[in-house]
Amino acid sequence: MAKLKSVQSVRGMHDILPEDQTHWKFVYKKASVLLDDYGFGKIDTPIVESSGLFLRSVGEETDIVSKEMYSFKTRGGDELSLRPENTVGVARAYIEHGMSSWPHPVKLWYWGPMFRHDQPQAGRYRQFYQFGTEIFGDDNPAADAESIFVALTFLESLGFKNLTLKINSLGDSNCRPRYLKVLKEFLKSKTKQLCAPCKIRVKENILRVLDCKEESCQNVIKEAPQMIDHLDENCRSHFKKVIEFLDEVKAPYMLDPFLVRGLDYYSHTVFEIVLDETAKTVVPENEKTASGEAVFKGLTLVGGGRYDGLVSLLGGAKTPAVGWSAGIERIILAMKTLGLKVPDTKQQPRIFLAQLGDFAKRKSLVLFEDFRKAGISASTSLGRDSIKAQLRIANRLRVKFAVIIGHKEALDKTAILREMDSGIQEIIPMDSIIESVKKRLKG
Ligand code: AMP
Repeated sequence: MAKLKSVQSVRGMHDILPEDQTHWKFVYKKASVLLDDYGFGKIDTPIVESSGLFLRSVGEETDIVSKEMYSFKTRGGDELSLRPENTVGVARAYIEHGMSSWPHPVKLWYWGPMFRHDQPQAGRYRQFYQFGTEIFGDDNPAADAESIFVALTFLESLGFKNLTLKINSLGDSNCRPRYLKVLKEFLKSKTKQLCAPCKIRVKENILRVLDCKEESCQNVIKEAPQMIDHLDENCRSHFKKVIEFLDEVKAPYMLDPFLVRGLDYYSHTVFEIVLDETAKTVVPENEKTASGEAVFKGLTLVGGGRYDGLVSLLGGAKTPAVGWSAGIERIILAMKTLGLKVPDTKQQPRIFLAQLGDFAKRKSLVLFEDFRKAGISASTSLGRDSIKAQLRIANRLRVKFAVIIGHKEALDKTAILREMDSGIQEIIPMDSIIESVKKRLKG
């Protein structure tokens, strides 16, 4: 077998270590409680889907599909892909499980890893977690507003304050083609000023020119016709109502006429939530890492919009829908950089079990489980033989009591209960040790 060059994770993919889990658990808990309150049901879909599903829906010309998908052929000849996003998978599940016959709207949320063969950098990975919501079967602007409001509330519940909601309308299949024609004429007249990729985008995926960051393109985009001026009556009215809702809840929104998003299936409302420039990092200047700083360079925490055509595009009935997704790694990175506090939910042990000899160790393992069942968190170090070394650990853990079992105690069915501060020890029958410890911990 070929020897591994080095033992490390695949580029752009990373481990989430025990020390990081406090943040992950906190964010997950906030997400699940909030979405439960708002009536969303959780759905888990497979990490792998048919490649065709994404080609048809996200768009063959999009970066995600044309450059970033992890696709492979199985031994059985199926063309599959690791999911680059999850709206499409959830829409597939909506059709497959006949959810169109469920009471509407059908409100779902998901949490799980996504895969994009992107250029790894701070806040941008090849495997990353997204948490998101989808509302199916509601074409009312109130559903757009509710989605946005829930996303903002989620971020605020994590402690974020300096948020900006960028919002735009992409119109629908009625008015967008007319706008694209106008935009194409304009961009063709400026071809010389566009960067090489944008020259191709004009032909293949023209809206993406609008979010090109190249300076020469930016100068052109500033002058470009805007979708907002080409919305038909229906689309304008939808967008106006969304904005009225956002005014009502005092959402920190900003109209961004050039916000287009990277997926083809959006119609009407599109939005992103970013940290604005007033967000202050708590990391001192000399300790700033590239990864921390990148959070403030326009990386988006949440992105979403309305996608009324997706379900029918995948073969289901015409079903209006709206949703968003949030990048969890990015959110946690931002929380750490901003110094947002997370309560430490790790249970501190209240007692320590020390034991001498194999027989006592076996008894101790059973006793550990008895304490756990009684709701008393214990710590032990079964690998250590010296009682002195074990009591040193007990001291370090600052537990009030140690329960010590030697060979004699194991034979006599007793245990020594030691009060750590005073060093006073008592011999207690094994069958009443849990009760004795309980009483002393209360007292
Ligand atoms: P998108 O599915 O592209 O609309 O992205 C939604 C959210 O997922 C973004 O706002 C980010 O927070 C997060 N995200 C997208 N791509 C990545 C990536 N490559 N690495 C980490 N997070 C990402």
